[in-house]
Amino acid sequence: MTMKLNTLTIEEAHKGLQGKQFSAVELAKSCFDCIREKDDQLNAFITITEDKAYLDAEKTDKKIKDKIKIDVLEGIPVAVKDNILVEGVKATAGSKILSTYIGTYNATVVERLKSAGAVILGKTNMDEFAMGGSGETSHFGPTRNPHNLEKVPGGSSSGSAAAVASDETIYAIGSDTGGSVRQPGSLCGVVGFKPTYGRNSRHGLMAMASSFDQVGSLTKTVRDAAYVFEQIAGLDKFDSTTVDKKVDVVNDLKSDIKGLKIGLPKEYFIKGMDEEVEATVKKAIQKLTKLGAEIVDISLPQTKYALATYYVLMPAEVSSNLSRYDGVRYGYRADSGNLLEMYLKSRHEGFGEEARRRIMLGTYVLSSGYYDDYYKKAQQVRRLIKNDFDKAFEKVDCIVTPTSPTVAFNIGEKFDDPLTMYLSDVFTVSANVAGLPGISIPCGKVNKLPVGLQFIGKHFDEKTLFNVAHQAEGIL
Ligand code: GLN
Repeated sequence: MTMKLNTLTIEEAHKGLQGKQFSAVELAKSCFDCIREKDDQLNAFITITEDKAYLDAEKTDKKIKDKIKIDVLEGIPVAVKDNILVEGVKATAGSKILSTYIGTYNATVVERLKSAGAVILGKTNMDEFAMGGSGETSHFGPTRNPHNLEKVPGGSSSGSAAAVASDETIYAIGSDTGGSVRQPGSLCGVVGFKPTYGRNSRHGLMAMASSFDQVGSLTKTVRDAAYVFEQIAGLDKFDSTTVDKKVDVVNDLKSDIKGLKIGLPKEYFIKGMDEEVEATVKKAIQKLTKLGAEIVDISLPQTKYALATYYVLMPAEVSSNLSRYDGVRYGYRADSGNLLEMYLKSRHEGFGEEARRRIMLGTYVLSSGYYDDYYKKAQQVRRLIKNDFDKAFEKVDCIVTPTSPTVAFNIGEKFDDPLTMYLSDVFTVSANVAGLPGISIPCGKVNKLPVGLQFIGKHFDEKTLFNVAHQAEGIL
């Protein structure tokens, strides 16, 4: 075959495997060839697991040869964000403190992908402990945007998004605490999906902010995201926040969306937003009416507090979750003469600046005296933000917004200015604050860089979300 296999979607690759047009080994090889060609520049991967991948691919090929029916993800290459454990493979979370750490078990989502026959190519680069919106806080250097190497790919699932956008992999998984799958999806021009909180197990995902974290996917199409979601979602005895609710999204993708009400929140078009991005998003939203959907103006009045709420609660959870990296139990240990100094030095040398900044912020908002003013208040506002959505969803079936206020920005542009960097999460954090599912799909370009359109759904109503996103994808 002359066609480049690595450019296929999950669905196309599955058909090709089933029809014996190519083998799973050939498919994996085309991805590794692409990685060899591009990754010196992109820096999307931290670890490549080529030998293991071929062994897995051979298993699929044997099944095909033996005429055993294969599952849709079987034999399909996937890249895994480096904060998600794969047994026996290095898992750094983009941090120096874990630069030598090896995963001791498979995360539940990985276990489920493996049992579906997935071929894991390797582990992707990311902002340190998933803290960042540009990929630049990684200890292993920044990832570059495949559309323009001077630009960031977004973050924190920077490597996963860049790897999918550059066809180094067929799809990837990432994690989304405040937008880390949707925002890089938007900046790299691929589909980024994050489910309702509690859908996907967090077992084996390194905790950043546990009440916000969800595993999500980066894919070339909405349909591919639906396949991955159906495979990895569901109850897990290792994560007590998972729910036992049916996941059935693929079947409904084709349904028409005539009469569906899509809410357009006025608070999502803010001052400071790039004008061309705004125009592109508005044009895309207008097109949705061609599908028979009704665009309904709504208001989510607490939106202006979402970013502040997130940046109080998230560091609080970060400071607690990252206390386990003490130089004793995992990874990097600094040389020192006594125990206390060893703890301090290991953490000081092991964590990057952004991680240390958030640990300090978190300990501050949790400290006695400030707890009521910051942490408790933010928890209360969190409820108000959720109430806003509940009220809106009495009137509409889902919500549409921009994913990011700008297209991909220059590497280095916002790095020394954390507040400006945090602003790039302004449209994505609310879904995590309220625990709602969200998906970003490409909807056009500005200065040759992709723009994303975000849909936010009701709790556990991924069915509508996928349906709308799939229909929209068809006309955008
Ligand atoms: N960019 C956001 C942050 O820096 C989101 C991170 C994430 O979703 N993991 O916190």
